[in-house]
Amino acid sequence: MLIRKLFKFENAHIVRNCSTRRCSENIHGHSYKVEVIIESNYLDNGQMVYDFGLTKLYIKDIIDSFDHAITLWSSDSKEYIDAMKRYSNRWITLPVSPSAEQFSRIFFLIIEKILHLSTLQNGEREVSLNSIIVHETETGYAQCFHKDAHSQLMGAIKLEDIEFSPQVQKEWSNSDIWKEILNNTPLKMPKSV
Ligand SMILES: [Zn+2]
Repeated sequence: MLIRKLFKFENAHIVRNCSTRRCSENIHGHSYKVEVIIESNYLDNGQMVYDFGLTKLYIKDIIDSFDHAITLWSSDSKEYIDAMKRYSNRWITLPVSPSAEQFSRIFFLIIEKILHLSTLQNGEREVSLNSIIVHETETGYAQCFHKDAHSQLMGAIKLEDIEFSPQVQKEWSNSDIWKEILNNTPLKMPKSV
């Protein structure tokens, strides 16, 4: 069975080298919608696949990092990156360009890891991430499955190459969340939230 939770955020970017010049040459924003699609063949004690309340602990904080922030590609020009950081407290640097496709791969890798590290307490079984859908506009989206997130053809992504600005980190409910994820620290999920 598949279940789906929707998250929203407002984010600015430039997508270098894309065919549409409005996108590749201008800083602009989108109202993003991210669908997290979770899968299991089993139900937990509450007869649910996965209680959405649990997504508030880590998944929500990570996705919310991108809200009212600018997303930068680490291979962009130093001049541009430095200027953006000078005028924005909330920024994220990615090792890939912030296209909807790469956003969906990034979110897949992070959320897959969060689910993997989560010690579930309410009888959830074999809960896995089916896919991530990132809507950049009302009419277009990118959907990432496991094979896409880990595709060498699309380029391997290392989570340690993602950087969140100090202001973004300060606004997390748990300031160590990224450290815990990178260090494979088991994430304790409470029985109730
Ligand atoms: Zn755009």
